[in-house]
Amino acid sequence: MTAERLNLYDLTREQLRVQLVRWDFSPVHAALLWNYLYLGLAETFSEVAMPELPPKVRARLIAEAGIGGLPTALATESSDGFTRKYLLGLADGERIETVLMRFKGRVTACVSSQVGCAMGCVFCATGQMGYTRHLTPGEIVAQAVHVARSLRQPGPPAKSNLLGYSPLGARLRNIVLMGMGEPLHNYEAVMHALDILRDETGLAIGAERITVSTVGVVPGILRLAAERRPESLAVSLHAATQAERAALVPAARKWPLDELMAACRTYSETTGRRIFYEWTLIEGKNDSAEHARSVGVLLKGLPAQVNLIPLNPTAGFAGAPTRSEAAKRFQKILAEEFKLPSTVRQRRGIDIAAGCGQLAVAEAG
Ligand code: SF4
Repeated sequence: MTAERLNLYDLTREQLRVQLVRWDFSPVHAALLWNYLYLGLAETFSEVAMPELPPKVRARLIAEAGIGGLPTALATESSDGFTRKYLLGLADGERIETVLMRFKGRVTACVSSQVGCAMGCVFCATGQMGYTRHLTPGEIVAQAVHVARSLRQPGPPAKSNLLGYSPLGARLRNIVLMGMGEPLHNYEAVMHALDILRDETGLAIGAERITVSTVGVVPGILRLAAERRPESLAVSLHAATQAERAALVPAARKWPLDELMAACRTYSETTGRRIFYEWTLIEGKNDSAEHARSVGVLLKGLPAQVNLIPLNPTAGFAGAPTRSEAAKRFQKILAEEFKLPSTVRQRRGIDIAAGCGQLAVAEAG
């Protein structure tokens, strides 16, 4: 879709109503159109896709608007059938990644917020590729619609059925902003998109089922708190000292650990919510008993849960994932010595390069 055309995925329900009224159409037509977009998941303005739309509304939409769906450049499914990764094309030729993850009874979409990323985390394929541009709200919404639409498509039963995980009838329930990009670096567009995705007459993703993940953009965390945004927040820590963190996450030089923790404290005090702290486990680098204790000390007194994620290896970083025994030891220390809840995340879709940015980098050669 060209930039001059109005992308309907950019509009909240109210903005869509205002636009149609501006064109001298009825709010009823706006409501109808909204339903076709988010309940029917329509891809075109055709009579088949939008049968009850009056011809004059259809003609105006065809002339001036578009449904900013993103074509699939590549789709790969993990061998266990739990994870499907899409490389999606944008109108300017750029590509982004969106991942569909199946869990028992629910589906989560991992969506991107930028093309590339400016934060430069050393172990991340997106960070290694650098920053190109922000995504628009419509490009973020389109990723969730893409996943929702794919769940409706009939196809052969996934292998995962054998294990009792049924994608049939599954609905998109969860969204995590953990794809390419730093969501709080693209704050306005991300929050606008989330308002659209949360609309209870549309895709109706519950705020408690949306997680915004940041590498530690302090002004963004404070803004989330000030605006009392209802979504969940995940903060990527990876290290519990400023020196170790800055070596893994260059953004930590701009927003040092003490400022980050002060912002997290403000966030939790203001919103009353706990934060999920993400810790990528890298063998021999940040997975010792001392590291676990340093996390416990750092998060003492904060409402927190730690998500331990064994590293997804990338070509640009010479590190290996922590082995399962060391991950368990880490978790045990957090639980027994600090009463800190934690999970060890399953690594999803390793065989399809499902770590953020990996598919785009592989495709670009
Ligand atoms: S981990 Fe996230 S914030 Fe860091 S470079 Fe990758 S995409 Fe950006």
